[in-house]
Amino acid sequence: MAFRVEIPDTPSLSDYASVAHLVAPVRALQEEAAAVVPKLEGRTIWMVNSTAQGGGVAEMLPTMVSLLRDLGIPTEWAVIESDKAEFFALTKQIHNLIHGEGTPELGPEQRELFDHVNAENASFLRSQLKPGDILIVHDPQPMPLASVLKDELDLRTIWRCHIGLDQASPAGNAAWKFLMPYAAAYECAIFSAPEYIPGMLSDRAHVIFPGINPITEKNRELGLHKTVGVLANSGLAVAPGPLVTPPYAQRAQRLGGDGAFHPANVNGDFGLFTRPIVTQVSRWDRLKGFEPLLRAFAAFKTRILDGGGSSDPLHGARQQLVRMVLAGPDPSSIQDDPEGQDVLTELKNVYCALEPSIQECIAFVALPMESAQENALMVNALQRASTIVVQNSLREGFGLTVTEAMWKRIPILTNDQACGPRHQVRDTIDGRLVHDPTDTESLAATLDAMLADADERNRWGRNAQRHVHERFLIFSQLREWMRIFAQMF
Ligand code: UDP
Repeated sequence: MAFRVEIPDTPSLSDYASVAHLVAPVRALQEEAAAVVPKLEGRTIWMVNSTAQGGGVAEMLPTMVSLLRDLGIPTEWAVIESDKAEFFALTKQIHNLIHGEGTPELGPEQRELFDHVNAENASFLRSQLKPGDILIVHDPQPMPLASVLKDELDLRTIWRCHIGLDQASPAGNAAWKFLMPYAAAYECAIFSAPEYIPGMLSDRAHVIFPGINPITEKNRELGLHKTVGVLANSGLAVAPGPLVTPPYAQRAQRLGGDGAFHPANVNGDFGLFTRPIVTQVSRWDRLKGFEPLLRAFAAFKTRILDGGGSSDPLHGARQQLVRMVLAGPDPSSIQDDPEGQDVLTELKNVYCALEPSIQECIAFVALPMESAQENALMVNALQRASTIVVQNSLREGFGLTVTEAMWKRIPILTNDQACGPRHQVRDTIDGRLVHDPTDTESLAATLDAMLADADERNRWGRNAQRHVHERFLIFSQLREWMRIFAQMF
């Protein structure tokens, strides 16, 4: 049975507006909302998804719900539930199919299950929603709800789809065919990139790019002491002096040449405070492109250590000193993800086959996940300690790691094959886009060229932050929602 989720305490609009550079985006949002809110008088927005915890949607909804409330729009969040494991297996299958993977076998049995679970959940919503309310359904799991409830309760209906693939595939086509009967009950559908709009909804589609919250632990400004403290407390660096705060209970680990993870600074400090640092933080997923990035950096470093460096003394020093951090979740936190384990094993094998002098230049880091807050601070501090952030994904829905680093004024190296990153990063404006993330030569050459030009890197970092400020913060997202409401009401 579906249930209503209490919204935890989250910052209010005035908390955001107390940050000097957020005054303007908050005001722009309030102005946009002022024209729309009166039109929504008497209606409540109901956000419905399939999980209260875990995953990007559940993470984003509390902030969104509380900001909508702050803007004067009554908003609630409900989650559908089922004790039928087959239902979640089916929705996972649909999810994978939309991403082009899995067997495209969806028949009447699956439809009956999908309809049945949603019909059961509809009864709770029937008791909560009132005529005229706005039902916003997130992702495919609760998609049938609109056809069950719309006419009966005279609801206004929106489907928000957070997933997608920028290439048509037989798998994707099968999923969209399965979902097609439920689309008719939605007045509009919102996708995270234009490429993700399926033909069946193109007449009602809008695009809202994801956005980041600039004051969370992941993205908030960190002062010098705090950055040093986080990196030292988490074991990613050796503290240059005494610290007020004690080490974290769970600390980062670094892969050793023996193929095992050890405390990250067991062999001394890696150099995050002083060396040029190139970083990628991602899940251990083959599509994140860790392996070609690792190979590219190893080849680059081999050339430099063999005497093939620049004759320019400054750039030559950068080439000598630069090191790479490849970070992702601690393997113990992904025990239920056999694919992640396989990818990590493949990466370990590549790393262990490198010369020790090259291994020394590459920190393969496992970040503990027990504390979401400490993990977020580690990612934040690592991104801030970076000269360049790479997101070498072969495919990427959006790539929040790109947005997060851009927000921190770090120039990005990514590619134009990955849909999300190419929407965020403008080549030679916010960083560089290579064409092929598996082309290790071009990756190494681009990295080297980026390292060579500090002025460009500074300019790209500034542009990147500004671009996120204008387009990829939660405020821009909410303004888009206001525009959609303005068209609907
Ligand atoms: N992330 C994290 N710790 C890790 C690895 C990743 O907090 O060890 C975060 C990262 O900062 C980002 C999110 O996980 O906020 C990944 O989102 P993205 O859109 O980049 O990729 P996804 O994992 O959704 O494919």
